[in-house]
Parts: sequence; structure tokens; C-alpha cells
Amino acid sequence: MDRYKTYIVILAACSMLLASGCTGGQADSQAESEVPNIVQTAAPEVKLSIKSTDVPKDTVLSTPEAAEEPSFAQLVDTYGDLGLIDAHNHDASAMQYLRMEKSWTANKVRNVVLFGDVSEPSAILTDVFSWAAYQSNPDLYIPYFSGFDLHDPECLKVIKNNLEKGYFGLGEIAAASSYSPVLANVAWKASDPMDGYFPQIYDLIAEYKAPILLHIDPPSGQPVAKLEQALSEHPDTIFIFAHINAYNTPDEVDRLMGKYPNLYADFFAGYSVYNPEGGLRPERFIPVIKKYPDRFMLSTDSGYGLEGGEEKAIEAMYRMLDLLDDAQIAQMIARDNLLNLIQAQPATETQLKAIAELERNTGNSYGEKLNKLEAGKILAQVIKK
Ligand SMILES: [Zn+2]
Repeated sequence: MDRYKTYIVILAACSMLLASGCTGGQADSQAESEVPNIVQTAAPEVKLSIKSTDVPKDTVLSTPEAAEEPSFAQLVDTYGDLGLIDAHNHDASAMQYLRMEKSWTANKVRNVVLFGDVSEPSAILTDVFSWAAYQSNPDLYIPYFSGFDLHDPECLKVIKNNLEKGYFGLGEIAAASSYSPVLANVAWKASDPMDGYFPQIYDLIAEYKAPILLHIDPPSGQPVAKLEQALSEHPDTIFIFAHINAYNTPDEVDRLMGKYPNLYADFFAGYSVYNPEGGLRPERFIPVIKKYPDRFMLSTDSGYGLEGGEEKAIEAMYRMLDLLDDAQIAQMIARDNLLNLIQAQPATETQLKAIAELERNTGNSYGEKLNKLEAGKILAQVIKK
């Protein structure tokens, strides 16, 4: 709602209260400074916080908060049916996903792209955890992996094996990091997105239609120049720029998305909605999201750097959907864009062999032309039994 109109409504409500004997307190200092002068002089001591019980039932009561800020619960209620996917989540680290499952259910997060540590030896173990989580609940988890050294030719075998096994993507991978307190010093980080065996990796994963989720900081200068080289030299590879909104401008995001159709954007909603470093003006990104509505996805980054942690980051994803104010685009950003990338991946030879064996052993038929998602579910269910 128009802020000016909002204040008019507030003032109308307050003048009614004043007339009926409500004592005017001190005006909220922030609100006071924002009230246009002309109105402010008309009612200098209006108290903006009003108890609903003080107001006659038929009074239209509107505060900026009430007009612009639905509660978390209301947002879940409004957008829960979209089947929100968290496109970037580190909860395979220390198996934290076990502690989050209740929250995902309560907050209607239907799928989680799960991985753990990033570009260091400990990620080999957290990749095992992301796989275990997927086996326990293939309807919830979408496992990625990050445990390989891209400076070692052996990494190509690791990547091929993992993709054959059924992982859906590579990530998060430190493709450049100078400033991140957690990634600037990891053992296997790249100096830029063309470093080491990256070119061969890009070609290999294109065969599997598997995306790669790249951490790039700073999101400017040489790291981005090399990303652009990678994007143009590997047009069939799907690149996802991790937390593209962090320390970045909507104009730069627009420039990259406009130039490279194989670039997708992971939008870390919590950073723009709740982290003061993000400027607290998430609406600035709405036009660029709407300009490329089939290539944005939302994520929590497990609540990195946020007071309120991962729950707050989930709330922020819903706030972005609300800011979009467009049901169709909300559906795409919340779920469809990421899911399309997952569903486009064909079943692998390894999966198909395992399913053929299963069919021989059980006499069941699992159908033809399975994609990786369908094949993965069949195999996970068998392993469970
Ligand atoms: Zn991350």
C-alpha cells in the first residue's frame, strides 16, 4: 500500500481514538521522521501502536507493518502450496538436516538441495551424508556433492561416479574466494572459474545435464571475467551462480543473465531481506527476477550470517515470493525452475543397470524412459526394504 495513504488511514484511526479519550503517547521516532510534514503538524503526538481492542470494530486500522508485512505463518499459509524448494543448503554438515526436518515440514519446504562442506577434504564425508539423507527420503532431498580436488585429474572419475550413482549436481564449489570467512582458505578452492580441471568438468557434467553451483567472491573483476569465459566456452553446461544477490547489484545480475542463457541465479533471500549488509531492500531485485523468470531459484544457504538462522532464511524466501506479487512467477521461482533442471536429467547407465537387475529379480516392470529422479526413487525404496 502507498505509504502516504497508510499514514492517512492511521491518522484517521488515531484521531477517532483521541476523540474517544485515548491518551496520545510519544510518536514512534522512526515513523515520525517519515510522516510527511504537512500531516505531522496536524497531529504531532499521535501514538502509532494501537491495541486492536481499543478500536471500534468497524474502524479500518492499518499500520505500515500490518499493510506490508504478513506474518511468517500467513506467508506459509498463502504460498505453502507452491512446494518451495531450498536450492542451496549445507545441512549435510554434521547431519544437521536431521534437526531441520520438522521445520521443513511445518514451513512447507517441499524439497531441499542438500550438500555439506565446500571444496575441501571434509566434503567427501558430508557428500556421504547428503546421499544418506536422500536414501532416507528421496521425496525431500536433492543431493549435490563437493568433495573433489579440481586440480587433480582424478576428480573427473569422482564426478562421473557420483553423477552415475544418482547425485543431481555439483555444489557448492568454491570457484573463487577472496573474502568469505569460511571459503577463502579451503584446500580445494579454485583461483577462478577456469582454474584446474574446470573446463573438462564443465564438458563432463553437460553430458549428464547436471548443474554446477559456483561460489564466486568477489562477484566482480577477474573471477567474473573467467566465469564469463566459462559460460561462453561451455554453452551446454548449466551454471548456477550461488547467492548471486550477495555483494552484487541488480544491474550486474541483469547484465550477466542477459548475456548468458546457460546462467541460472541462486537468490539467497535471507541476505537481501534480513542481512543489513544486503541493504535491506530486497525489492530492488524484483525487476531483474521478473525479467528472467525461468532462471531464478530461492535458497537459504542454511541461514548463513543471519540472526535467526535457517528459519529466518526460510521466512525470507516467502517474503520474496510475496514481493513478486505474481502468482505464476512465484511458482516458477519457488519450485519449477529448479525442478525442471532436475527432471531434465536422464537416468544414468548405472541406475538403469541396477533397475534392470531389479526387474529380473522381482519380475516387476518399472517402465521405460525413466529420468534420474524417477530412477533414484525406485532404487532408494528398494534399498530401504
Ligand atoms: Zn553456501
